[in-house]
Amino acid sequence: MYPEKRTLQGMMLSGISFKQTVQGNCIANKPFRDWINRLSLDGMRTGYFSGWAMDGDFFGGGGVVTPVNSPREDHEHLLGDSTWACERALTELTANVRKFDPKTYIFMCRPAMDLGVFYQRNVDAVFTIDEMAKPEALPGLTNQPVNVMLGDRIRAWSRIRVHHHFFPHYVDQPQVFVGPKSMGKAGQDWPSEAIDYVMLSAISSSPNQLYYLPTKAGIPAQDKQVIRRWLDWGRKNVQYLMVRKDLPDWPQVGKVDGSAHILEDRGYVFLFNPNPMPLNGSFVLDESIGLTKGKRYRVSSVYPETVQQVTLARGRTVAWNVPSQGVAVLEVEPER
Ligand SMILES: [Zn+2]
Repeated sequence: MYPEKRTLQGMMLSGISFKQTVQGNCIANKPFRDWINRLSLDGMRTGYFSGWAMDGDFFGGGGVVTPVNSPREDHEHLLGDSTWACERALTELTANVRKFDPKTYIFMCRPAMDLGVFYQRNVDAVFTIDEMAKPEALPGLTNQPVNVMLGDRIRAWSRIRVHHHFFPHYVDQPQVFVGPKSMGKAGQDWPSEAIDYVMLSAISSSPNQLYYLPTKAGIPAQDKQVIRRWLDWGRKNVQYLMVRKDLPDWPQVGKVDGSAHILEDRGYVFLFNPNPMPLNGSFVLDESIGLTKGKRYRVSSVYPETVQQVTLARGRTVAWNVPSQGVAVLEVEPER
């Protein structure tokens, strides 16, 4: 135990300020870590759990990673900064779960989500940094439905994970819906508009998602059907979701962004238009989206469900009209 409570103040990676008073135990202390590890594996031995998750911090607080200073000399660190020793101890806990049952789904919030990609060994999913589900529009965009704002943020933060933090997209774990009212200030009423947009934003970003849902308040049956439809579609196509090539433009005002998910010259392209007017999204039928060998491709609409298709030669550009604040999901396959 740290001898005294301490008050931590600072800013999270997402830019949100925090202040909390905490008191915790140092896991860079073998007898203590052995005890925690035994508890963890005792839980797994019950056979009730197919997954294992971690959330918290190195101080015993709600979870904000700042340098750890353990005031003990008989732990696995010198007096003072014990951050590295604690990080190492954490990866040992995770590795033990993986060893116990290699099929366990291991999901990390803090501390690992604030650490780098090298702290994600043995990890299947890492929570997004944009964890508060705040419906704030990207710069320059206004009057969007809540689920469009959340969808834009999901895609933007997933790109930060991939292109700035170097995480594989398939370990990213976007938080999909707005927080329920039980979350207090961050909570909102359930918004039914644009569920397709937020679901497809999440599914295009990663095969892993986390859902804040107002289950006690109830979700309209029709909305549940839309959610189920896209979850089923995602499960059926998960092999394609495991690969992702981002189109060059990031989610932003005046642009259509998107990603391609192609295996063996077949797969899907998602196009997102967060703007108040219809816009064309475009991509080239070549290696930039993962097409490796075919000569001609058929591109057809999966969503929206209007029948629309073109057949074009390799190297040609597809320009596709995307409705305002809307999504197009296109299937790409070799010409038959
Ligand atoms: Zn210590």
